[in-house]
Amino acid sequence: MNAPALRRRALLGLPAAAWLGAGCAPRAPLAHVTGGFSGDSPARGHLLRQPWPERAPDATRRVHTVIAGGGIAGLAAARALRLAGHEDFALLELEDVPGGNSRGAQLMGLACPLGAHYLPLPGDEARHVQDLLEELGLRQRVAGRWIYDERHLCHSPQERLFFGGHWQEGLLPTAGVGAATLAQYRRFAAAVAQAQRQARYTIPAFHQQSAPIQLAQDAITFEAWLNRQQLDDVHLRWYLDYCCRDDYGAGIASVSAWAGLHYFASRHGFHAPGEGAADEGGGVLTWPEGNGWLSARLAAPLGDRLHTARVVGRIAPERHGVVVDALAADGRLERWQARQAIVALPVHVAARVLRPLPDAVRARAAVLSSAPWLVANLRLRAPLDDRPGAAPAWDNVLYGSVGLGYVDAMHQSLSPVPGPTVLTYYRALGDEPQGRARLLQTPWAVWRDAIVAELEAAHPDLPAKLLRLDVTRHGHAMAVPVPGALGQLQPWRPASADAPLRFADAPRLAFAHADWAGYSVFEEAFTLGHAAGAALA
Ligand SMILES: Cc1cc2nc3c(=O)[nH]c(=O)nc-3n(C[C@H](O)[C@H](O)[C@H](O)COP(=O)(O)OP(=O)(O)OC[C@H]3O[C@@H](n4cnc5c(N)ncnc54)[C@H](O)[C@@H]3O)c2cc1C
Repeated sequence: MNAPALRRRALLGLPAAAWLGAGCAPRAPLAHVTGGFSGDSPARGHLLRQPWPERAPDATRRVHTVIAGGGIAGLAAARALRLAGHEDFALLELEDVPGGNSRGAQLMGLACPLGAHYLPLPGDEARHVQDLLEELGLRQRVAGRWIYDERHLCHSPQERLFFGGHWQEGLLPTAGVGAATLAQYRRFAAAVAQAQRQARYTIPAFHQQSAPIQLAQDAITFEAWLNRQQLDDVHLRWYLDYCCRDDYGAGIASVSAWAGLHYFASRHGFHAPGEGAADEGGGVLTWPEGNGWLSARLAAPLGDRLHTARVVGRIAPERHGVVVDALAADGRLERWQARQAIVALPVHVAARVLRPLPDAVRARAAVLSSAPWLVANLRLRAPLDDRPGAAPAWDNVLYGSVGLGYVDAMHQSLSPVPGPTVLTYYRALGDEPQGRARLLQTPWAVWRDAIVAELEAAHPDLPAKLLRLDVTRHGHAMAVPVPGALGQLQPWRPASADAPLRFADAPRLAFAHADWAGYSVFEEAFTLGHAAGAALA
């Protein structure tokens, strides 16, 4: 995400104040609003920046398989090992709670996500995700059709946009836009439909061989592709930039044209107003705690094989096994001696801890750039007043704002009367200059004021109803699908979604993390993790 913010501001024709973000003060005083930083522990991750202790371990343990990293990929690997009857493994996770970017939490008694908040209904390429959903009782076959559990299917209305002082349905700006804008919406819809005819856009994409046209799309930015197509309408560009920031953590000037097209072509397409389906996000599963619902269920059966608060600092394959060193939160150095290991770590972490470093890990780490993200949970004592236009939705976005809007954790509640809730606000900082440093160095109160000022434009009653605001900082949240990230995979792709990602110069290791796919969604992480676990069982 390194499209300079200034450039995008010019592109969108927005006033500078809309892009300032941190530093804007809300109108009403916020001294009554408590909160702080929660979720990730940057200091623990940054232990890897120090020289790794060379002293003898405080404890040595033996296990058949070590899984390093307890995000969705690591948890999926553990599930696959269990399903195959392979119980002798240990999963080592840095944070106190497993789940990585898909963790949930409680805020003053209400559940909320700390990161990922939904899972689109999986298509047939995401076969292992479908199996998981069946196992969890979320999907079953009734009279020959797949039926999903209504309680967890996102209720209507799903999305709305605050545009021109009103809420409109859907996220594509439509209210009052001119004929020229509508014409460009139709041209972009036709381009997406053409892309769908020319090549397969699947989720997961990791195992799918790329067609030559997709490799050509991968070679340029989405912005360059839009320029070539003379798609320059300000509303279309805002929408596409928003979609890319929302899914990839970076805007159209950073991601590849493949990624920009894949966003639409792999799922619901793009529909101009009045043409085909409304431009809603399609069917999605969601929970108050977001995908923390899924990660908690993946972690539950692990029992004492799950070791949290462990910083894996060294993974060293040897002739007869693999040595994995981890620092526990109490400072003890643990040594795990295993036959094999599954590296379910972000690629930049894998590149720091693997000794020796496989060529592919070095190469992948050099190509990927990771986007920092901020997630803020805002606990309200009462629901917000409504403004003119579309009714409150699950996903609520403000046109032209620096953040990505918010989801309402109580949206799935069946209570007829709205009550206290938690709003989960998202902001991807990958396009912001010094975004990671800014994320980590900006004091909590400055984030609080900036977030409230941003949302206050649509919700003047927010400051008076806000009780607490907790900020989660994901410093290296997700890989951005920059140009070249797809093409690099060609020589490494396993033959099928059942085959693990392995490299000849690291025969005792299998790799799994959404970074390998080049963009971060549940289906990619889960499928890679499942393949690694199933193959090593
Ligand atoms: C803010 C945000 C919102 C998102 N929203 C969605 C969404 O709605 N839907 C969706 O499908 N996807 C979403 N994603 C993408 C999400 O990243 C993936 O769905 C998925 O959770 C990635 O899983 P993973 O296992 O590949 O990676 P990670 O979540 O990065 O897991 C890696 C794990 O390794 C651990 N780790 C790191 N270093 C070490 C170490 N040295 N030792 C031990 N452990 C270590 C980490 O703590 C983490 O638990 C979102 C991501 C973010 C950041």
